[in-house]
Amino acid sequence: MQFHPDRNPNNPDAEEKFKECSEAYAILADGEKRALYDRYGHAGVGSAASAGAGFDPSVFQDFGDIFGDFFGIGEMFGGGGRKRSRTQRGPDLREDINLDFEQAVFGTETQVSVRRHEVCEECRGNGTAPGKAPASCRACAGRGQVRYQQGFFSIARTCPTCHGAGSVITDPCPKCAGQGHILRQRTVDAKIPAGVEDGTRIRFTGLGEAGTFGGPPGDLYVVLHVKDHPFFEREGVDLHCEIPVSYSQAALGTEIKVPTLDGEHTLKVPEGIQSGTTLRVRGKGVPVLNGHGKGDLFVEIRVQTPAKLNKHQRELLRELEGTIRVENKPQRRTLLGKVKDIFG
Ligand SMILES: [Zn+2]
Ligand SMILES: [Zn+2]
Repeated sequence: MQFHPDRNPNNPDAEEKFKECSEAYAILADGEKRALYDRYGHAGVGSAASAGAGFDPSVFQDFGDIFGDFFGIGEMFGGGGRKRSRTQRGPDLREDINLDFEQAVFGTETQVSVRRHEVCEECRGNGTAPGKAPASCRACAGRGQVRYQQGFFSIARTCPTCHGAGSVITDPCPKCAGQGHILRQRTVDAKIPAGVEDGTRIRFTGLGEAGTFGGPPGDLYVVLHVKDHPFFEREGVDLHCEIPVSYSQAALGTEIKVPTLDGEHTLKVPEGIQSGTTLRVRGKGVPVLNGHGKGDLFVEIRVQTPAKLNKHQRELLRELEGTIRVENKPQRRTLLGKVKDIFG
């Protein structure tokens, strides 16, 4: 994608690199070619893969969503030499929106403000005044290309007058000045599914820029930015938080009310729990995006040592200290941080 021609207009180096990448992918994707490459190197597969015309765009189908229909690979390799249509797919658009933590977890319906070109309804996008049609381009005699003689070579170039279309608009549509589209500010309804996270990119097919002269519209990509929660930290579909307990609660065991994203949950803290132990509450995490089930909630128990004691408390603890002895010897750190399952 780094060297894709769409991102590197007028850069022959990038185009060359992109062809190399395509070739490499073609070889990797095809077991037979790969064997040839391993045995004979580039020469073994060169005739099949290096020439642009013989290149099979279908190898990119495996890239699927991340690559194929985003950049329009098929058109790129099939288009060499022939008359270019004025019709073009509209560019994709990107908008960024901010979501609250809960909106990302539960999903939401929001609105996205988009500035985009839309098809001119006066000329239905073809750019000509009502009742008029485009005229054949005189500069290239309707071929879309002009030829230059350079030394031994005859070089074909895209006609600069009609930009390869072979025709020019002589009577432009008055509403869009022959552009075929009009710039508008729109508010688009955007349904955000449950389980998205910071950085998730959602594609809204066909909501991007209008195509030119009858081409299909581009897509709208909405990039999500999710605010932090006051105490929950999210790791994929799991949630993490810390809850302090007193020394005696940890020793005797207790029940505490834990806030979850769908109400309070009563968490049983077993007696004798060590500080740093993590308790797992199953199914109280974040819904799986486009799937089933939910992640878990992990509660790390922190034993809070009293920082200030009154005289009475001090005496009680001294008395306790006489009966419970801890051996103050070093031990492995792995004893901390164990996860216990709580089925709630
Ligand atoms: Zn128009
Ligand atoms: Zn022309």
